Amino acid sequence: MRWRAGWDAIFLYGQFFYIYFIYENSNLLQVTNMVDLEKIEERNYNVLVHTDDGKYWRPEIETMPRPQFEEFQLAELKREIQFAYDNAPYYKESFDKAGVKPSDLKTLEDLAKFPFINKLTERDTQGKGSFFGLLCAVPEEDVIFMATSSGSTGVPTMSPFTQKDFDEWQDVESRWFYQTGMRKNDRYLHALNFSLYVGGPDAIGAQNLGALTIWGGTLPSERLIFVLKTYQPTVMWTSPSYAWYLGETCKKQGVDPAKDLAIRKIYVAGEPGGSIDATREAIEALWGADVYDFFGLSDIFGACAAMCDEKNGLHIAEDHIYVETVDPKTGAILEPGQMGELVYTTLRKKARPMIRFRTGDIGWFDKTPCPCGRTHGRIHITGRKDDMFIVSAVNVFPSDIEAVVRGLKGITGEYTIRIYDLKHTSHFDVTVERDEGNTAETDEEIAARVQGAIKARVGVKPTVVNVVKDGTIERATHKAHRVIDERTLNYII
Ligand SMILES: [Zn+2]
Repeated sequence: MRWRAGWDAIFLYGQFFYIYFIYENSNLLQVTNMVDLEKIEERNYNVLVHTDDGKYWRPEIETMPRPQFEEFQLAELKREIQFAYDNAPYYKESFDKAGVKPSDLKTLEDLAKFPFINKLTERDTQGKGSFFGLLCAVPEEDVIFMATSSGSTGVPTMSPFTQKDFDEWQDVESRWFYQTGMRKNDRYLHALNFSLYVGGPDAIGAQNLGALTIWGGTLPSERLIFVLKTYQPTVMWTSPSYAWYLGETCKKQGVDPAKDLAIRKIYVAGEPGGSIDATREAIEALWGADVYDFFGLSDIFGACAAMCDEKNGLHIAEDHIYVETVDPKTGAILEPGQMGELVYTTLRKKARPMIRFRTGDIGWFDKTPCPCGRTHGRIHITGRKDDMFIVSAVNVFPSDIEAVVRGLKGITGEYTIRIYDLKHTSHFDVTVERDEGNTAETDEEIAARVQGAIKARVGVKPTVVNVVKDGTIERATHKAHRVIDERTLNYII
């Protein structure tokens, strides 16, 4: 139990209800009765209870029945929209311009009346009017932390947090760790970048859960392997490319990650690999560990969503983020389950509320019940709008090609994709590596097999499949760059 002074009557009621729940061994969903919509603002995560032998970090939030949960979201959304309008100059101006007022939000669907923002809005408004700019809703002295985007698609954007934003974010991280089975007796190796990166502070979520947390950062692989061998951590978070690279490097040094190390769970983020079954299963086999995909955005926080044991999509923290899916071209609302661009609205962030943020991620939102009992929906991300390319009128995502290449035998799973113009249309070639042990096939036979498998999954085949020797393709350390885009024509998606 985690006690702290200042807890109010509603949570006292929650505690009693929870004790009642344990005593009666009754249906978990009953505990959700403790939520009083009028008292949302007073929600203080530190006083909510959880049990170490339970399944959920915050059962009353994570398993709240859908109709009640959506009422809860609406109350939060109303508060956030009003707060943004009253305090962030950008929203005041953009809502007025669009002719909408916070009081126009009477249902969750009414959010569609409000204007979108995107990465450009962040970039164009930062530094204007104040240090954090026109989207920021608090004075700078209330901001205690900032991360920045990588800047891989332009000027890095700053992401500010108040103390409350930060604490609630770390509570969500504890939720994901707990969801995937991390407990107090685990040793957790946080092998993510700490420099400006929004995933860095997530180590605190593991500490708050009570796990022994090792702040690994981006140590060179030699040093990291020393840490793995000497301190025997049981859980690790890194990128999928690096998990693969590190596992292979261990093997080359005579260390079998599945037998000689204690890692039993690996979290991956930053690339789509963790949600590509073939990639995830390959990493699982290499390490003899369970792999869970996590997803975060520097614009919101470290991990906004994470897999549960079902490994079928990522539960998103819907008590903090309201999800819409829109047509990437027109912005029109799509139904949950339809493929489109994911749009997020923060429900509680104060430093910089994000209202209808177009992420550029293409995927779908699954609101059907999950067998794990959590009622929060699951996101499935297929790829970035920017990464998608069109060949013969078919939308192709690099992640689809990865899914094929990682799943085939006789090749190493490493690949590159080259996209180029030929006779005024896009073409793509794929390069794969022959597995050292594959002596049964010629290069031509491998190429034909890869070409056929890609055609079967994606709908179009690569113009050429090159087969090269094992080890030819440069191994990625953190974020892999596998796509070479040589197109010069202007393709607008
Ligand atoms: Zn689930």
